Amino acid sequence: MQLRFSTGVTGEEYVSQELWRNASLTRCPLHPKGGCGFARHGTYERLSPPGTRIARWYCPQGHRTFSLLPDCLAARLPGTLAEVEEVVGGVEQAESQEAACAHLRLDIELPGVLRWVRRRVQAIHGLLNTLKGLLPERFAGCGPRLGAFAERLGVDAVLPALRQIAAPYLALLPAPLGFGPLRSRDGEPDRAFQQGAGPDPPAFFA
Ligand SMILES: [Zn+2]
Repeated sequence: MQLRFSTGVTGEEYVSQELWRNASLTRCPLHPKGGCGFARHGTYERLSPPGTRIARWYCPQGHRTFSLLPDCLAARLPGTLAEVEEVVGGVEQAESQEAACAHLRLDIELPGVLRWVRRRVQAIHGLLNTLKGLLPERFAGCGPRLGAFAERLGVDAVLPALRQIAAPYLALLPAPLGFGPLRSRDGEPDRAFQQGAGPDPPAFFA
């Protein structure tokens, strides 16, 4: 199970400062009164940004692990929220998804790039729509686009800010902002994600 680690740094700063060492979870989320043997359970590695580690805890009674994901990192996708935001923001400003894809992911063919980009665009635009419903006092009249949210919030980096603003809902919100499954276009959990997902750490797919 993923939990929020409020850090206020970029992915590169998280790595260079080794901030997983500062991550702290004093009580078991399942057994706040203790007595379950809850203890630190090392770290696991994420491939991107290189050198990333995530602090983890384990409750032997509940057979559950808990990991503290810093606000800069995407959930259930490789890399940072800033990287996801760059891709989706690029599509919003491009004439077409094809145009936005022209310089992305040169290691795979265009149809693959388009799927890779669409998955991110759909996840983020769906998420912004959901947040408009959850927080109408903040986002009423705001189009479900990163550009519109950036203007409303007065920030450059929308997704890390939303990780904080939407903190009470993260368990319910889909990845890569929230800690629920990544959703596909039809609203069902993404099959590629489900098939590839281990319990924790999450599986990484391209
Ligand atoms: Zn416990």
